[in-house]
Amino acid sequence: MKFGVPILAFGMLSSALLLGCGGSTGEAATGGGTPGGPMTAAQALAQLNEGNARYVHRPATAPHPTRHERAETANHQEPFALIVGCADSRTSPEIVFDQSLGDLFVVRVAGNVIDDFALGSIEYAVEHLGTRLIVVMGHERCGAVTAAMEDDDAPGYIGSLVRAIRPAVEATKGHEGDPLENAIVENAARAAEDIRSKAHLTADTQVVTAYYDLDTGVVRFD
Ligand SMILES: [Zn+2]
Repeated sequence: MKFGVPILAFGMLSSALLLGCGGSTGEAATGGGTPGGPMTAAQALAQLNEGNARYVHRPATAPHPTRHERAETANHQEPFALIVGCADSRTSPEIVFDQSLGDLFVVRVAGNVIDDFALGSIEYAVEHLGTRLIVVMGHERCGAVTAAMEDDDAPGYIGSLVRAIRPAVEATKGHEGDPLENAIVENAARAAEDIRSKAHLTADTQVVTAYYDLDTGVVRFD
């Protein structure tokens, strides 16, 4: 499904009303996007790479978002990238990519699995906020994928996560390399494919996968 500029503009207005946002809904975009339009997927990917490099080499202390940034984004958002990530407390996309308020639209659940709610969130960002890059980011030593490798009958709703991740574990059995890393990479690839095949995206939206190294802080885009 394609969304032209008029529909997008209407979408921004309707979504602002839907979410009860006040203030101007027709103001110019903030941030580093292409004048008159959202940042392209390629520009967004470059910005994430630059941010991750800043994070990897960051000194011991770094500034938090300022009042100015909060005020700038209070009534308007145009996140340049959407990150589908794991709920793991060590993988916060805003920190890993050195971004601030309003920069990233983030969907996080253990094991970065995709469900209808995640797909709805993704479609919202693409249709209403102009986001054109979607990154599914798995990470080193993911506990959810580990559980899917080890536990046949996890209790409660953890079992739901395990069942969602299990196909990636099965698909990579016997492959060369580290079994856990293989399953994490495969799990992200399957989530990305789910998004491509199910979500209504614009033709210029890209879905890519990434792997975050907990030890080095480096995000590797596949
Ligand atoms: Zn995880």
